[in-house]
Amino acid sequence: MAENELKMFCYQCSQAAHGSGCTVKGVCGKDSTTSHLQDNLTFAGRGISAYAYHARELGHSDQQIDAFLTDAGYTVVTNVNFDPENLLDRAVEAGRINLETMRLLKNAHIEAYGEPQPTTAKTTPASGRGIIATGHSLKALEELLKQTSGLGINVYTHSELLPAHGYPGLRKFPHLVGNLGGAWFDQKQLFSDHDMAILVTSNCLMPPLGKYRDRMFTTGVTRMPGVCHIDGFDFSPVIELAQSLSEYGDSDEARDLTTGFSASTVISLAGQIKKLVGNGRISRFFLVGGCDAPLHEAQYYRDFVKNLPPDSVVLTLACGKFRFNDLDLGEIDGVPRLIDLGQCNDAIVAVDVVMSLAETLGVSIDELPLTIALTWMEQKAVAIFWSLLALDIKGIYLGPVLPAWIDEQVLSILKERYDVRLIGDPGSDRDMIFQEAA
Ligand code: SF4
Ligand code: SF4
Repeated sequence: MAENELKMFCYQCSQAAHGSGCTVKGVCGKDSTTSHLQDNLTFAGRGISAYAYHARELGHSDQQIDAFLTDAGYTVVTNVNFDPENLLDRAVEAGRINLETMRLLKNAHIEAYGEPQPTTAKTTPASGRGIIATGHSLKALEELLKQTSGLGINVYTHSELLPAHGYPGLRKFPHLVGNLGGAWFDQKQLFSDHDMAILVTSNCLMPPLGKYRDRMFTTGVTRMPGVCHIDGFDFSPVIELAQSLSEYGDSDEARDLTTGFSASTVISLAGQIKKLVGNGRISRFFLVGGCDAPLHEAQYYRDFVKNLPPDSVVLTLACGKFRFNDLDLGEIDGVPRLIDLGQCNDAIVAVDVVMSLAETLGVSIDELPLTIALTWMEQKAVAIFWSLLALDIKGIYLGPVLPAWIDEQVLSILKERYDVRLIGDPGSDRDMIFQEAA
């Protein structure tokens, strides 16, 4: 590495080198690995905060989570903790706390809306006026559905709200008519193409184009200059605008998306799965999904899933699923080959399913015929990644491009301790996975 190459970046105190930032070593004495591990803890804490926030929207909180966030926040203050080993331990602890946080949110969702059931969502507009809700907040969606009841306005989900269709307490609203678009980054095209009001309930939000800015509203922590923000859950301005927009006619039918697999639904198939694994009809499980990014390289995930052998089962979650959830993978003797477990926070459902599979098959998680391939964009993914490492899951594939703060040193730690792998070519990766399993 060249002497002047960026090895770290920290500008959090007045000692910052040249008054702009420490980029090789901290003036305070912090080395680059420590700096990156501090960033890691900060990012994991941000991810945990997002899930704790949505649980709090539904009236649930946990002092243990709050205490961890306070502790982690203090740990990364200037001149507090220079110990990389301790920062790694704290990252694992962040993973454990994130498991608790995701469970808190999952229980809050189930208490409010019932346990999800497999269901389909239409992907074209129905006749009438419409509102598109995007983001992750089921609470905001519920309030919108209540306030639009009987008004002749159709409500559509987008991106990470697709799994809402599986919850009985949300599905009961007949005007929740479908899901439009895919992962968050199709917003500019989708919102331009559909003359509907738009409610952004959380990330991921893109700076809007002028042609739909006036139709867009934010709520919760989400904000954008020039976009009307609604504090609380009174969505009258959204509804008023939707009523002023044009009506849609019937659209051509497109392929419906299936979502809403709960832990109970998948676990109820355990007996059949055990039989199918035993007689060789199921060779391997794959957990493929995560936070998607608008990068050409992310095509990997579609190619990877498309080319898996017909005796494999794919579990998926988060917006990364839109890379391939339109594929018809069929089923294996009653077990669907593509199982959408929900939002990114439903990684806790994936954990429950994986543990239950291990128990059913009488093996440890490490011995399960399971490969995890994650797409990683932002900070909730950091928290989830450390949750999986906290469970001592090894050999996770990551891609398509790692966040820039993961430098060579951090990556080598992850490879050495957790056998973390970077995605490569979908076909070669698949062959390698099956060769290693043989
Ligand atoms: S905390 Fe340390 S590394 Fe960061 S800006 Fe201050 S002196 Fe530099
Ligand atoms: S990238 Fe992550 S945070 Fe953004 S919509 Fe997708 S799952 Fe949610």
